[in-house]
Amino acid sequence: MAEPGRMYIDGAWVPSKSGVTRDIINPADQSVIGTVYEGAKEDVDVAVKAAREAFDHSSWREMKAGERAALLFALADALEAEAKDFAHLEVLDSGKPLREAECDVSDAANCLRYYAGLATKPYGVTYDVPEDMQALTVREPIGVCAQIVPWNYPLLMAMWKMAPALAAGNTVVFKPAEITPLSTIKFFGLMEKVGIPKGVANLVLGAGATVGAALSEHPDVDKIAFTGGTVTGKKILAASVGNLKRVSLELGGKSPNIVFADADFETAVDFALFAIFAGQGQICAAGSRLLLEKSIAEKFIARLVERAKKIKVGPGLMPGVEMGPLVSERQMEKVLHYIGLGVQEGATLACGGHRMVEGDLAKGFFVEPTIFTDTTEDMSIVKDEIFGPVLAVQVFEDEADAIRMANNTRYGLAGACFTQDGAKAMRVIKALRAGITWINGYHSTYNEAPWGGYKESGNGGRELGTYGYEEYTEVKQINVNLNVAPIGWFEG
Ligand code: NAD
Repeated sequence: MAEPGRMYIDGAWVPSKSGVTRDIINPADQSVIGTVYEGAKEDVDVAVKAAREAFDHSSWREMKAGERAALLFALADALEAEAKDFAHLEVLDSGKPLREAECDVSDAANCLRYYAGLATKPYGVTYDVPEDMQALTVREPIGVCAQIVPWNYPLLMAMWKMAPALAAGNTVVFKPAEITPLSTIKFFGLMEKVGIPKGVANLVLGAGATVGAALSEHPDVDKIAFTGGTVTGKKILAASVGNLKRVSLELGGKSPNIVFADADFETAVDFALFAIFAGQGQICAAGSRLLLEKSIAEKFIARLVERAKKIKVGPGLMPGVEMGPLVSERQMEKVLHYIGLGVQEGATLACGGHRMVEGDLAKGFFVEPTIFTDTTEDMSIVKDEIFGPVLAVQVFEDEADAIRMANNTRYGLAGACFTQDGAKAMRVIKALRAGITWINGYHSTYNEAPWGGYKESGNGGRELGTYGYEEYTEVKQINVNLNVAPIGWFEG
C-alpha cells in the first residue's frame, strides 16, 4: 500500500505526530484514492514555529522581489508542465468535470505569474508634508500567514492564497480542506523542487475544528486568511482576537441573477444554467437565485428546464460529462435536505430533486440539476446558501422590485443583470449590494480584478489583483528629516 501523504514542514515531508491517517474518497464512486496523515494542534505548533523562524531569521523577507518572483515563475512553469496530472487528480478528489479542472490548473499557473509580476512593480507613495521633512510609505510583508481553504477549488484557492502572500515576502502555513488535500500535497512537491527555502511555505493537513482552530488562535500567526462558510468565518474571527491577527474572510453567498424581459433570451438562459450548475453549484458566487421579470417568466422557465434536463451528469473523467458528483456524502445529504425543505415549504419542483443512482452513478454522490419555481422570499431555499445544483426562481414586477428582492439577503458576494438597456443595467448593478457583478454574463473571474463580498460574504478585504497583494502587506510610514539640527523644544 502507498505511504500516506505527508505534511511539508520546515522543508521536510513529515507524518503527523499522532500517526493518525484519513482516507481520501473519490466522490464519483466512493473508492479510496489516497490516504494522508491527519494533523492536530501539535503539528500546527511545529509548522508555525518553522514559518516564524523563516520569517524572522531567514533571508526570505529581505530577498530581492525579483528573486522571489523568479521562484514563483518557476513554480508556474512546473505546474504547467504537469498540468494534466494535476487536473486528473483534482477530478478524482473533488469530483469536478475534467474541463473545469483543466481551467483551474491553468488559472492557478496564471495566478502565480500575476503575483510574480506584481512583486517587482512600484509600490509606496511620497507625501508633501508641512515641515522640512520627506514623508513616504513602503509596503512590507505582514509575517506568518495561516491560510485555510475549502474543497470546491482545492488547487486554485491554494494559489489565490499562497501566490500573493509569498510574492510579498511573507511565510505561510497552509491548510487545505481535509477531504481534498491531494493536489495541494502534489503542489508542495513542486515548491520543494523549485527551491522555495525551508520554512517559507508549510503544509499542515487535518480538520477545521482541530488544525484550523489551532491556526486561528495561534499567538505566533500574524495573519489568517480564510475562504469558506460564513459560520466558520465568524468562528475564525472570534478565535483570532488574542493577538489581533490581520484577518481576511471570503465567505458564502446567495447571489441573484436578474433577467429583464428585454434581455437576449438565449444568452440569458445559457448563463442562468452556467451560473448555478457549473461546479455542481458548489461555487461561492453561484447564481443560486434567478430573478425573472414576470412577462417572460413562464417561457424562460420552460426553456431553462428543457436544457437543465439535458445536462450530462457523470464521473468527471468520463468524456462529455458536464456536471460531476457533489464533493462528499455529507454535502449531498445537505443538498437533499434543502430540496426536501423546498418541497415542504411549498415551492414547485420544476425539474430534478433527486439523487441519481442509475448504472455508473450508483455509488457516487450525484444529484440532479434542480430548479424550484413558485418560491417566496421567506423560504429556506431562497434564503440559505445550499452550495449545490439547486436553483430558486423568483419573479419580479419591475426594476425597483428586482433590486429590492436581489438585496433581500444577508449575503453580498455576487450578482448579475441581463438586459439590452445599458442604462438600466448600470442602475441595477450600482444598486446591488454585492462585491462581484456581471452585466450580460456570469462567473468570469480574473486574477487582475478584486474578488470579495459585501455584508456577510466577507469582512471587507479583497483577493486577487493589487487588492489581494495589499492584503498581505503592512504599510510603513517613513519620515526623513531634511534639516538635521536640534529643534530646542525643551530649553534646558
Ligand atoms: P467550511 O467553512 O466548512 O470549511 C472551509 C475550511 O475551513 C476547511 O479547510 C475546513 O477544514 C476549515 N474549518 C472548518 N471549521 C473550522 C474552524 N472552526 N476553524 C478554522 N478552520 C475551520 O466550508 P466548506 O464547506 O469547506 O466550503 C464551502 C463554503 O466556502 C461555502 O460557504 C462557500 O460559499 C465558501 N466559499 C467562498 C468563496 C469566496 O471566495 N467567497 C470561495 C469558495 C468557497
